[in-house]
Amino acid sequence: MVTILKTGTTEEQKKMLIRWFEDQGLRVNEYMDGDQVVLGLIGDTSRIDVEMLELLDIVDRVVLIEEPFKKANRKFHPEDSMITIGGTDSTEATIGAGHFAVIAGPCSVETEDQIIEVAQAVKAAGATMLRGGAFKPRTSPYDFQGLKAEGLKLLLEAKKATGLPIVTEIMNQDHLDLFCDVDVIQVGARNMQNFELLKELGHCDKPILLKRGLANTIKELLMSAEYIMSGGNENVILCERGIRTFETYTRNTLDLSVIPVLHDLTHLPVVVDPSHATGHANLVEPMAMAATAGGADGLMIEVHNNPPMALCDGAQSLTPKQFEETMERVRKIREVVK
Ligand code: PEP
Ligand code: MN
Repeated sequence: MVTILKTGTTEEQKKMLIRWFEDQGLRVNEYMDGDQVVLGLIGDTSRIDVEMLELLDIVDRVVLIEEPFKKANRKFHPEDSMITIGGTDSTEATIGAGHFAVIAGPCSVETEDQIIEVAQAVKAAGATMLRGGAFKPRTSPYDFQGLKAEGLKLLLEAKKATGLPIVTEIMNQDHLDLFCDVDVIQVGARNMQNFELLKELGHCDKPILLKRGLANTIKELLMSAEYIMSGGNENVILCERGIRTFETYTRNTLDLSVIPVLHDLTHLPVVVDPSHATGHANLVEPMAMAATAGGADGLMIEVHNNPPMALCDGAQSLTPKQFEETMERVRKIREVVK
């Protein structure tokens, strides 16, 4: 429920109303829409007498919101969210509200040489953040599971060497202490509805890259973002990485229509991952260009210095040279859509 106050409402009148809402067990998000104060109410509003509320002198109107997500909802936050991610020295990345970010790097951190070589290459090509999995969610328990804490250390070395902020996946809230120097915590597709993990991330102060689940709807993605945001962490970046359909030629089916739909529904930045969406290196560039043209705020692309030898997702990984070419073409598309 949203309560829009009349222009001219005094600070004291507004505070009294907010206090009353809070006494009803609700949390209140305050926004400005032009010169009107908008109060977004979070919690069980079923006990609020809407007609009585509308009769108050200071209330212009009350809008009942059907969408169950509030913090992520553009209705309560009309401007695009901009998230700034700190690197070392002067390097930082910004995403959203017209700022475009490219997250690139290997599927998994394998060795110090590998991650530093890839980090330097993607930085030179224009990436603004480095990705690399240390904790890997693999379908088979016999596959490489990631270097875990050692992988996080190597990512920090690569950050030291390049200044690029790092993005890496968390699979278990008990590992959170290990992520204190990570710049963006990724929630992978398989954990999009791990609600206990999402709740914990709601209490942390780092931006979260939330990937869409393998078979999850847009509403479910937004509700998962809401879990994080309602805990107090509003820095959420949404990531489309393809969904399961009957098609098996590609690893997943890239749902590009999600970009304008999400921009309509939410103020959060939207990133597209054409690597996991397609599973084939030759499809990554065209889909990266399409996502950029479709209004994505950023891309996540897997890059490996030696894809055939990669311990994970080699088939969809670009070489540094291919990544450089892709970046050039993506930059051209950005010039057109900016
Ligand atoms: C990844 O980014 O390495 C990954 C595992 O992606 P997803 O969760 O989208 O499958
Ligand atoms: Mn991968």
